[in-house]
Amino acid sequence: MAKVEKSDAEWRAELTPDQYAVLREKGTERPFTGEYNDCKDVGVYRCAACGAALFRSVAKFDSGTGWPSFFEPIEADAVTEESDTTLGMVRTEVLCGSCGSHLGHVFPDGPAPTGQRYCMNSLALSLERESEESD
Ligand code: FE
Repeated sequence: MAKVEKSDAEWRAELTPDQYAVLREKGTERPFTGEYNDCKDVGVYRCAACGAALFRSVAKFDSGTGWPSFFEPIEADAVTEESDTTLGMVRTEVLCGSCGSHLGHVFPDGPAPTGQRYCMNSLALSLERESEESD
């Protein structure tokens, strides 16, 4: 997988302040505020920082948490996972496999077939909708 490396100044210039806070500073958007929480459109969710494909809409489910949730990434190496012990919790952080940007966390309480819940920030994603009929 192609690796994307940019300076902090480049990320700051390319991302909105809200995107930067999540993707580059590991922030978390407030639940039920993100544009993809309720989204049921068909397509591929890409990294909002580098554009790498991360999740298919068919793997999205309603977790009730207020964040867009998926039971599996589009490819095993599309994301990387790291232990996160901040905020007095032990969680597994999920990062973009291409650019290392923070996406969210994964929890072992998801639905079949994987039992995983990739709890993502809408701000970290960009949905490429399946193309509408065009002329
Ligand atoms: Fe990325």
